[in-house]
Amino acid sequence: MLRIKFILIGDTRVGKTCIINQYTNKEFKVEYKTTITADGDKQFKEIKVGNKQVKLEIWDTAGQERYRAINKIFMNKAKIAAIVYDMTNQKSFDNLKNWYNELKDKSDSVKVIGIIANKSDLYEEKVINKEEGENYAKDINALFFETTAMDYESVAAVFEGLTKKYVEMEEKKGRIKQEEELKSQKKVEKKKEEQERKVEQLEISKHTNNQNKNKSKECC
Ligand code: GDP
Ligand code: MG
Repeated sequence: MLRIKFILIGDTRVGKTCIINQYTNKEFKVEYKTTITADGDKQFKEIKVGNKQVKLEIWDTAGQERYRAINKIFMNKAKIAAIVYDMTNQKSFDNLKNWYNELKDKSDSVKVIGIIANKSDLYEEKVINKEEGENYAKDINALFFETTAMDYESVAAVFEGLTKKYVEMEEKKGRIKQEEELKSQKKVEKKKEEQERKVEQLEISKHTNNQNKNKSKECC
């Protein structure tokens, strides 16, 4: 089974923990106690992407984002990152670029990024338009999602959409690699054939030479 590390980052209070709990336990609680630990909490969920069974290892910060102290262990070997902001909080949107830079600084393994605009149920308090979020996502080549941690479907779309993109990218990479291997294998075979043909020709010409020599001996 393919195991994928999936991390959620973004300002404190944007709803990261609630999003994860909705996805893994199908529940929404107003408050989750966070014990501040050095590395973060992780939860697991198995899903099917195409015909591949995938085990997601979902990492939640454990309060350390308050001090911008996401360490390398948290980022280490992560393949997918969701950067979350709260659409009712301008600062959390402005900070997206800091989170993106942090990600670039501390991780070279993340292949797929999502920008998540959370708290869509609070539409009356919304201060960031969907287009602003979409534009930022486009700038950094990320996928964009709107969620409310109160709704399972909106949250599942994030995890499943980003995982699908990652799996498809890896499959494509695998196919290209296979094609390249096949090509170089064919090249080697062709070279071998050419060499064999050369040896054969050399032997034929040796043989004809000998015959000619013999003939000339017979003749005189
Ligand atoms: P974190 O610090 O990013 O992990 O944020 P939390 O998941 O702890 O959420 C912070 C606060 O926002 C809590 O009071 C949550 O109940 C609330 N919250 C999280 N997601 C949503 C949402 O989609 N809608 C609303 N209305 N509140 C949310
Ligand atoms: Mg949290």
